[in-house]
Amino acid sequence: MNSIILQGILYDKKSSFQPGPAKAPPLIREALYSDSANMFTEELKDVSKMSISDKGDFGIDEYFNIEGITSTNLEGNGKLLTLGGDHSITYPIIKAHHEKYPVLDILHIDAHGDLYDEFEGDKYSHACPFARIMENGLAENLVQVGIRTLTTHQKEQAEKFNVEVHEMKDLNLSKIQAFKNPLYISLDMDAFDPAFAPGVSHHEPGGLSSRQVIDLIQNLEAEVIGADIVEYNPDKDFHSMTAYLAAKMMKEIMAKMVD
Ligand code: MN
Ligand code: MN
Repeated sequence: MNSIILQGILYDKKSSFQPGPAKAPPLIREALYSDSANMFTEELKDVSKMSISDKGDFGIDEYFNIEGITSTNLEGNGKLLTLGGDHSITYPIIKAHHEKYPVLDILHIDAHGDLYDEFEGDKYSHACPFARIMENGLAENLVQVGIRTLTTHQKEQAEKFNVEVHEMKDLNLSKIQAFKNPLYISLDMDAFDPAFAPGVSHHEPGGLSSRQVIDLIQNLEAEVIGADIVEYNPDKDFHSMTAYLAAKMMKEIMAKMVD
């Protein structure tokens, strides 16, 4: 059984709209270890018996330090799960993974394509990480699910980078291609409909249900080598319901990673 490495990245300086995700990692942990639920996944894997090396939470002064912190935490055996943080952190995290996994695919679950060439003058905005990842050749295949905010620019970017986009308007989860390469999962909590996950900066109606995302993760047949859960904004949450959803997703994703 593979072991899990956990890191929290306390960073939201590249949020274009509202800060808050920097506060998320300790609250997702608290929800995971709360007496509210047991530690089993739905497929009866006991998360409390998994080997989890928790490296703790990292305050970030400089955006590009995220890559070095991640590389250090990736040393040795184990697969890394990162709690964010805004979505800008995924670019330096994937850079670090690329050193260890030169060929990888990404499953990106989000309301947004995050493919802007630049956003409000910043090429590293949380609206841009997947443009940076693709133009630097850091992923073989990028598959996006839950998208419902494309612009003509982002549509062109998706075509330029050959992204497989599964938009909400014509979603059929059974049409998602099988992943042949080691797989990294990047889960932006705003992929869920705001009715399921109010604790995000960008409420975008018409999103995925909790059940759809859980099914999507459970049905993956790929080797999952890393993941992140980003954009949980505690300032917008209601009775911690988004924290509990993030914690449930954490369990289901970790179960895939140890397989
Ligand atoms: Mn995002
Ligand atoms: Mn998003």
